[in-house]
Amino acid sequence: MGLGSNLSNPVKQINQAVVTLGSLPKTSVITCSKLYGSAPQGPQDQPDFVNAVCQLTTELLPLALLSALQGIELAQGRVKKRHWGERLIDLDILLFDDVTLSLPELTIPHIEISNRDFVLIPLFEIAPDLIVPNQGSLRNLIAQLKTTYLHPLSLFTV
Ligand code: ADP
Ligand code: MG
Repeated sequence: MGLGSNLSNPVKQINQAVVTLGSLPKTSVITCSKLYGSAPQGPQDQPDFVNAVCQLTTELLPLALLSALQGIELAQGRVKKRHWGERLIDLDILLFDDVTLSLPELTIPHIEISNRDFVLIPLFEIAPDLIVPNQGSLRNLIAQLKTTYLHPLSLFTV
């Protein structure tokens, strides 16, 4: 799971989403990365993002998990303004065991996984030996990142 927020106290938004994720039916949160700050990748006239990744166990199937995530996004007040724009909370399915899926509404692994420092680096923290289906080792994907704008958030900067 990938989490991101850049509005209305992003750290609070992410913490709240993690609590709600853990209360989904037949679902538990196993581990979360630290929080990271990242520069926006879309329009630049928006605040920096706070990002994290979590590992869940769930008995929900991928599409059921997606609709649960969309429910949390809506409940937390997500209003889509523009592509890659600002949001209160963005919840993405990054990986689902070794499942690969290519549906109009759900691609697993997440289609942007290999391009996003704010996903790969937090993932490395919680699963350094991860292999991404069809894309090789997480280590190698990180080595191929061109630049990274990511910085771990200190307690004093949030
Ligand atoms: P992004 O997360 O790339 O900034 P959005 O969250 O606005 O963009 O994208 C939402 C759409 O992406 C949803 O309608 C959802 O159906 C689709 N989608 C496709 N694959 C995934 C995935 N792995 N996780 C979450 N949403 C996905
Ligand atoms: Mg999303």
